[in-house]
Amino acid sequence: MSLHLVAGAAGFIGSHLCDRLVAAGHAVTGVDNFITGSPDNLRQLAGHPQFQFVRADVTEAGWDAGLPVQSFDYIWHLASLASPVEYLKHPLETLETGSTATRNLLELARRNDATFLVTSTSEVYGDPLEHPQSEQYWGNVNSIGLRSCYDESKRFAEAITMAYHRVHGVRTTIARIFNTYGPRMALNDGRVVPAFVDQALRGEAITVFGDGRQTRSFCYVSDLVEGLIRLMHSGFREPVNLGNPVEMTMLEFAQAIQAKTGSGSGIVFRPLPQDDPKRRRPDISRAKQVLGWEPQVSFDEGMALTIEYFSSLVTA
Ligand code: NAD
Ligand code: UDP
Repeated sequence: MSLHLVAGAAGFIGSHLCDRLVAAGHAVTGVDNFITGSPDNLRQLAGHPQFQFVRADVTEAGWDAGLPVQSFDYIWHLASLASPVEYLKHPLETLETGSTATRNLLELARRNDATFLVTSTSEVYGDPLEHPQSEQYWGNVNSIGLRSCYDESKRFAEAITMAYHRVHGVRTTIARIFNTYGPRMALNDGRVVPAFVDQALRGEAITVFGDGRQTRSFCYVSDLVEGLIRLMHSGFREPVNLGNPVEMTMLEFAQAIQAKTGSGSGIVFRPLPQDDPKRRRPDISRAKQVLGWEPQVSFDEGMALTIEYFSSLVTA
C-alpha cells in the first residue's frame, strides 16, 4: 500500500483515478475546491477507510494545512479548469492552477520525496501545424488569445515540472492528455461530448461549431487512467501523449451521436470559437514504447457507457 494525494479529485478524470487507486489497495487523499468538480463524483468513496477528502484550493498559500497525512509517496496534479467554457469564464484561476498550484504541489513532492505527475494537455500544441502530434512538436500557440490562459498555464506547468526535476531531483512525469470522455463529465461544462449527448437526449438540435470539419480524437476514461498509472511508475521524465488516435470530424461525431441516441433532432451550425484547433490526433508511439500502453476501449463501447450515464442524469 502506498500513500497518494490526488489534486482535482472531484473532477471527471480525478474521481476515476481515485476509484482505481483505492481499488488497488492504496490510501488516497483527494483534494478539490469544487470550482468545476462535484462531491457527487466521489459519493462511491464516502466513508471508505482508504479514502479521505480535503476541501482546499491548491493555489493558496497554506493550502496543505488541513491534510491528514504529510508523507505522500505519489502526488497527482489534475487540478485545473479543463473545459473551454469554464476556463474562458475563469482565466485567472486557470493560470494559477498551472503556475502557483503546480509549484505548491511540486514543493510538497520535494518535501515528501514523492513521485509527481502533472496532467498537461494536447493544447500545448495549440492549433497544430504538424499532424498527428508527437511529443517532439513544439506547438503553434497564440500566447495572448482567449485560450492562452489554458495553453500557457499548461506550458508553464510543464516547464516548472522539468525545472524541479533538474534543480531539485524530484521524480516527475508529464502526461499530455488528448480529449478524454466518459461518465462523470459535467453535463453543462460545454465540452463537445456532454453537449452533443445532452442535446440529442433532450431532442434539441446539436450545435456544431464552424463547419464541423475540425477533428478531435476521443479516448475513453478507463484507458486514460491506465495510461496515467503506468506513466507515474515509468521513471520517464519527458512528456508522454495519452489519447486515442481514432480521429473524426465534429460533424461525423454529431451524426454518430444522433445514430446512437436515435435522436431525430437536427444539427445547427454556430460560430467557431477563437483559435479552435482545426485538427488534433495523438501520435502515441512513445506511450506504446515506454509504457506498453494503447487504448483498449472502442468508440462504440465507450460512447454506449457514456450515453447510458448521461441518460440517467437527463431522466433523473
Ligand atoms: P474537471 O474540471 O472535471 O476536473 C478538474 C478538477 O480540478 C475539478 O474537480 C476542479 O474543481 C478541480 N480544481 C480546479 N482548480 C482547483 C484548485 N485551485 N484547487 C483544487 N481543485 C481545483 O476536468 P478533467 O477533465 O477531469 O481534467 C483533469 C485534468 O486533466 C486537468 O488538469 C485537465 O487540464 C487535464 N486534461 C483533461 C482533458 C480531458 O479531455 N478531459 C484533456 C487534456 C487535459
Ligand atoms: N464543439 C462543437 N459544439 C459544441 C461544443 C464544442 O462543435 O457544442 C467543438 C469545438 O468547437 C471543438 C470540438 O468540438 O472543435 C471539441 O471541443 P471541446 O470544447 O470539447 O474541447 P477542445 O478539444 O476544443 O478543447
